[in-house]
Amino acid sequence: MAGTPVASWRCRWCAGAEGTVVLDLGEQPAADVFPPVGTADAEARYPLRMVLCAGCGLAQLEDDPTEADEPRGVEPAALVAQAREAVADLAAAELAEPGASAAEFPSPHGGSWSGLLAAHGLTVLDDGGAVDGVPADLVVDSLGMMHDPDQRAALAARADRLTRDGVLALHVHPLGTILRTSAWNALRHGHYAYYSVSWLVRAARDVGFVPVGLWRYSLYGGTVVLALARAGSRPAERGAGTAALAALRDVLDEEDAAGVTNPRSVGRLQDAVTRTATALRSWLDDHRAEGVVGYGAASRAVSLLAVAGATGADMIAVVDASPAKEGLSMPGTRGSDGTARVPIVDPSALTVLRPRWVVLFVPDLLDEVRRQYPEVEASGGRWVVAEPTPVVVGPDPIRTR
Ligand SMILES: [Zn+2]
Repeated sequence: MAGTPVASWRCRWCAGAEGTVVLDLGEQPAADVFPPVGTADAEARYPLRMVLCAGCGLAQLEDDPTEADEPRGVEPAALVAQAREAVADLAAAELAEPGASAAEFPSPHGGSWSGLLAAHGLTVLDDGGAVDGVPADLVVDSLGMMHDPDQRAALAARADRLTRDGVLALHVHPLGTILRTSAWNALRHGHYAYYSVSWLVRAARDVGFVPVGLWRYSLYGGTVVLALARAGSRPAERGAGTAALAALRDVLDEEDAAGVTNPRSVGRLQDAVTRTATALRSWLDDHRAEGVVGYGAASRAVSLLAVAGATGADMIAVVDASPAKEGLSMPGTRGSDGTARVPIVDPSALTVLRPRWVVLFVPDLLDEVRRQYPEVEASGGRWVVAEPTPVVVGPDPIRTR
């Protein structure tokens, strides 16, 4: 239950044993095991809980009994755009200079900054973030570090890759954004850490690093790139410019006001679970007879559908552009009464199915999918943004309620 202290647990950063369960999603299927469509058995479910460490304040996955193997997703245009902006920001702050070397730690979320860094004249050391590789002047990590169960080792590996005056640029979806947008379904097996910028700054200081600047992006409701450098190094003395330092102060102030290390404040995510899932449940009850298709077989859709108890009776299919998910089905969508699973189909199905409703689980894709699949609206269908409560996009000539 949320709000209770955890038993027999160790923090992934400070090894402290005291923490509070701030979000409890009960038993959830593994978000990255997509069963083949015809699978008759219900898949195994595992406890899924977020714990806030009382010692260091890191919000983290309590335990991961699954063998997380996050499939590489299709890279949304919004993520590509963020990468372009971030590399330009680092270059403008003279942290990504022509002739410097760069190394990138990979992430299953897709999206590499390497090509962009090379285009800015940096030499990219192409070793997939190997721990003992050649030191780099710039080490970048976009949504990668949260996948490491050992957070102390993960930060050390990135810091160790840096030259003496090197800069580590971390792109994260911060806890402050998760709280502000009630994005409880950011919690999933395989994502071990839910960083606040305050925590990242403190953890960095623990290992001799200081923040030199921060940049904010509109992706996923608000992501940030935090630049860190060794205390006493050239970039640490110089900083990344007034704007980047002001943005850092702003985010730290906002996090302070939001209470990102306060279990009671973070625990408000639990209320959002019921709110979002109930809203989707009743929307599906009202509209399923008209033909509902989902879009985006992302992990956030898996937990949302599972908590809302959605099955093949509610949704004809979930469309996803990743070929790796074809012929599979959404985890946890087989009804306890044997109702069929929700199959995952490729986008060409939109033309065939001509659904009345397409429920979008990845809001950042909205502009992209509306442009890419005009046939949805041309044939009288409507896009619906699923969270926090289903909202129909664009004009709706047909009265449905
Ligand atoms: Zn801790």
